[in-house]
Amino acid sequence: MKKILLSGVKPTGRPHIGNYFGAMKQFVDLQNEHESYIFIADLHALTTVQNREEMNENILGVALDYLAIGLDPKKVVLYKQSDVPQVAELGWIFNCLTTVPYLMRAHAYKDAEAKNKEVNVGLFDYPLLMAADILIQDANVVPTGLDQKQHIEITRDTAEKFNRIFGETFKLPEPLILESVKTVPGIDGQKMSKSYNNTIGLFATDEEIKKAVMGIVTDSSAGVPTNVYAIHSLLKDKASLDTLYEEKKGKYKDLKDALISDLIAFIKPMREKREALAKNPKAVLEILKAGGEKARARAEAKMEVVREKIGVTL
Ligand code: AMP
Repeated sequence: MKKILLSGVKPTGRPHIGNYFGAMKQFVDLQNEHESYIFIADLHALTTVQNREEMNENILGVALDYLAIGLDPKKVVLYKQSDVPQVAELGWIFNCLTTVPYLMRAHAYKDAEAKNKEVNVGLFDYPLLMAADILIQDANVVPTGLDQKQHIEITRDTAEKFNRIFGETFKLPEPLILESVKTVPGIDGQKMSKSYNNTIGLFATDEEIKKAVMGIVTDSSAGVPTNVYAIHSLLKDKASLDTLYEEKKGKYKDLKDALISDLIAFIKPMREKREALAKNPKAVLEILKAGGEKARARAEAKMEVVREKIGVTL
């Protein structure tokens, strides 16, 4: 029996290499040995993306990203979260079991509060919809970056609470966070994030790659530009990287040029594959539709058990 793997990405804009190395690459690397469910978290994105055209475009965009990085729809169930409305139903049930002070401890909410952002109920409740996404499919493992660790803990707590009240129903999932890429740094050395404006796009053009690398902040220790090295280490093994950085010690321009050419070699084939796939959006939407049907059927079977347990089926 293969383990069940589940993860998703929000359709909120272009993915960056932090998303790829922190999470998306694991989806591809593990697709053969797991039964995988990979989704587009459109209902989660609705907390910020509130424009029909933009939402449409972003959803298709993430589907193209998934296929371009090498997810095989014959092996992986690829779907849109909104094609499984049962997750919203389960999310509501979890809402009724969870206290407000407990959710107020979530980092994403606390950060938004600290920055004086307007927090909608969807953002506040995000961890419980995520718990529903995971638990409804009986997932064993959830590959993510470190920023999602607390959400997996909330998922486990929620499963335990439901099981305690209504009897054994949900499996407790494990996060799969790779130590070396748990927080990929951006061009300024902080966590790479769309909201910090410090990203290198996963499908960036050669020009965009050059611009981003030239913008890397080069604070150095012993002649090694730390931020350049950190990003370079995503692409090359330590031994060959150390030889290169020793040879070019202090020559920041040469080291940045080497990083540019390694990034182009890594990104260009994926970018070209994505461009080719984008010519046939209908085929991509068919894949999502078929995946949605599979994911929805599983979710409905699980919800029949859940509804019975909570006592709304007479
Ligand atoms: P999001 O676009 O926020 O849905 O993120 C998609 C996935 O990328 C999640 O699993 C995040 O944990 C992961 N991720 C985002 N930024 C980084 C980063 N800088 N380093 C590692 N993983 C990341």
